[in-house]
Amino acid sequence: MEKRVYNFSPGPAVLPLPVLEAAQRDLVSLPGVGISILEISHRSKAFDKIINDAEANLRTLLGIPDNYRVLFMQGGALFQFGVIPMNLLRDSGKSADYVVTGTWSKKAFDEAKLQGLSVNVAWDGKPTNFNRIPKQDELKLNPDAAYVYTASNETIQGVQYQTEPAFGSVPLICDMSSDILSRPIDVSKYGMIFACAQKNAGPAGVTIVIIRDDLIEKSPANLPSLVNYKVFAEGKSLLNTPPTFPIYMVKLVTDWILNDVGGLAKMASLNQSKAKLLYDEIDHSDGFYLPHAEKECRSPMNVPFRLAKTEFEEPFLKQAAERGLCELKGHRSVGGCRASIYNAMPREGVQMLADFMHDFRAKNS
Ligand code: PMP
Repeated sequence: MEKRVYNFSPGPAVLPLPVLEAAQRDLVSLPGVGISILEISHRSKAFDKIINDAEANLRTLLGIPDNYRVLFMQGGALFQFGVIPMNLLRDSGKSADYVVTGTWSKKAFDEAKLQGLSVNVAWDGKPTNFNRIPKQDELKLNPDAAYVYTASNETIQGVQYQTEPAFGSVPLICDMSSDILSRPIDVSKYGMIFACAQKNAGPAGVTIVIIRDDLIEKSPANLPSLVNYKVFAEGKSLLNTPPTFPIYMVKLVTDWILNDVGGLAKMASLNQSKAKLLYDEIDHSDGFYLPHAEKECRSPMNVPFRLAKTEFEEPFLKQAAERGLCELKGHRSVGGCRASIYNAMPREGVQMLADFMHDFRAKNS
């Protein structure tokens, strides 16, 4: 097998090696079944167990209360940006508030607006290029809104809510695509959580939706089945052929967090200590490396930074890749570099990057 490099991609992203190895082992023949996971019927007993185990693992890890459904949908997180307002806003007679903290929450706002629905920007981080999360008293909220929309972690700008925001009785909808399963959360504070899998939960192809029963009841009856949360939940995510392999991978990834890592509190402390290696290097660089996010909002998942001397960025990326530190180029809207260090990024990879940053600065300042 070709040697693996350290993959700092924002997503699809690094997966835990034991998970890849288990998938490789079972690819030709699932134990006790004798059929590949790629060949198995979604109506089979064996797949029933896989999807039920994936849900049970998510329920255990996240402490999902009984009055929430867990759905496995397709179309990615972007699909949800359109589907959420179809279900929860279109026929509500209300407006919805969007907290715009970066590229992804802005895109969610745009997808609701596209449908001609009544949406308000409760706060907009654009004036400072989305480098922070608002304080509660900066938000312009409507107490009668159908929902408040947030993104817990902005993958491109690397800003994350450090504590769960509170919006009274208005349902909170949260895009957790880039930090789900990275830390414990209190699901009961949310009306709905969703996350594409391809960063912390598995490969591309499945989106996890966790939605409270009373919100499910709001889905208009005339929506097509596959975008109707109520119908989709009643069909137990099996209205049509689901993404069987990605769901199986979610089961393996959540097995890994439960059994190998030891749960989300442990996961969070590992993530914090990995992120500290990079942020310390940036903070102690005398301005050689410039962080994008303000200190109190920094994401432990995505670490965007620039080099003060931009002419060094290309050699930085090239030399990093030569050491097996790959996919570090930042998004064009922020520029510079971005290290995505999700759950599955080994600490050794982050330590190697921090050491490389240290050496590169020593040689070039
Ligand atoms: N939300 C966030 C926070 C993301 O990081 C991404 C993907 N980078 C998306 C939404 C869009 O996800 P998808 O590509 O699955 O539609």
